[in-house]
Amino acid sequence: MFVLDPPWTKDGPETFTMAVPEAHTTFKRGGVGWPQRPPAVLRCPSCSRSFTHEFANDYIDCPDCHFELAPDKFADLDLLGLVCPHCTRELDHGIRHPGMMDVPEYASCTECQYHWEYQHDYESATRS
Ligand SMILES: [Zn+2]
Ligand SMILES: [Zn+2]
Repeated sequence: MFVLDPPWTKDGPETFTMAVPEAHTTFKRGGVGWPQRPPAVLRCPSCSRSFTHEFANDYIDCPDCHFELAPDKFADLDLLGLVCPHCTRELDHGIRHPGMMDVPEYASCTECQYHWEYQHDYESATRS
């Protein structure tokens, strides 16, 4: 069984701050599109520590060493898990089109019904 080892359980809650804007609190939980992606826990290829990459369009930088990577190179890193932005639990996530996609296409929380999709019309991306 996959065991998530998120960095914030070691470093205390202050290292993982909820950055949910007020305007989103009335919004249905979840999102669509890569920029709305939930925080990801990545493995640093340089020092092999795990860290949280909160916003999809931010530079990926390791807090423990000088490693950094452009956000569009996300798929090059080991993804350890995605985190529910509402209740900080690990999300169930997966890829609907293995071979076409190397980043998660959906993530959902079993606890608070949060759900994220890479795109709305994922059916149209299916080649048959
Ligand atoms: Zn590092
Ligand atoms: Zn949740």
